[in-house]
Amino acid sequence: MNMNKSTKVIEIEAKHALGKSGMRELDYAFNPYLGCFHGCKYCYAIDMTPAEASQNWGSTIMVRTNIINLLEREARTYKKGIVGVSTITDPYQYIEMKYRIMPDAIDILCRNGFYVTVQTKSPLILKDMIVLQKYRKNLDVGITVTSMKSSISRIIEPHAPAPEKRLNALKRLSINGINTWLYLGPLIQDINDDLDDIEKIIEFCEANDIRIIYDSFQDFKGTLPYMLGTGYRRTDPDWWERLNSHIIRICRNHGVSCILERDEWKYEISRKYGTLF
Ligand code: SF4
Repeated sequence: MNMNKSTKVIEIEAKHALGKSGMRELDYAFNPYLGCFHGCKYCYAIDMTPAEASQNWGSTIMVRTNIINLLEREARTYKKGIVGVSTITDPYQYIEMKYRIMPDAIDILCRNGFYVTVQTKSPLILKDMIVLQKYRKNLDVGITVTSMKSSISRIIEPHAPAPEKRLNALKRLSINGINTWLYLGPLIQDINDDLDDIEKIIEFCEANDIRIIYDSFQDFKGTLPYMLGTGYRRTDPDWWERLNSHIIRICRNHGVSCILERDEWKYEISRKYGTLF
């Protein structure tokens, strides 16, 4: 996606760089932008974003221009912990090529003893390979893939890079020694729950020795109006139970490590303390 007349960028000043994360596996969230030009219809961040960006989801974005100055100070004084980058925006949406917040943010956080976990859908992360490799013991990178099929991706995440580009980026990161994972989801009934498609993603992870975190779609209040246009209807309660057991079986058959998003905190504890769970 390129900047055009239908996209709007608003520069704002943030009060803090590091926020408290609602995710159990994270200590902090770092969100350089509010809103996201990828415009995913299922994005829970719609409910957590100021109205100006959430009501124009995918076309208006706020840039927290002073965030690096704030981070320099906070990284020196805050208790060390795990920082999720990002939790309510994509840190490598194309606007990052203009503002270039991420390489400094990774450097500041890792240099000050924080562990960084980056999640994106964009191959632009490859531009930061030097800093990622420099701190590879202090970070990991996840790339979200919802389907191997561009035709499905275009419906639910209209401006995000094509699945093939994301997989290539993940492979390049892994080849370059970065600890990587693939986020498979959100899985949505009758939209991206085809088992053959899911198995192809799992096969990719098997071939590239990448672990999977996966989850189902949760319909937050703000997402519903966007999702209704995709053909989504409410989820059948038994559907997830069935799909979940298929995913576990397919991953086991392919020797791929997979974990439900809501259990990821257990993985983080085992990584941090070297324990098994
Ligand atoms: S890329 Fe992530 S943050 Fe951006 S719209 Fe999609 S799900 Fe939301």
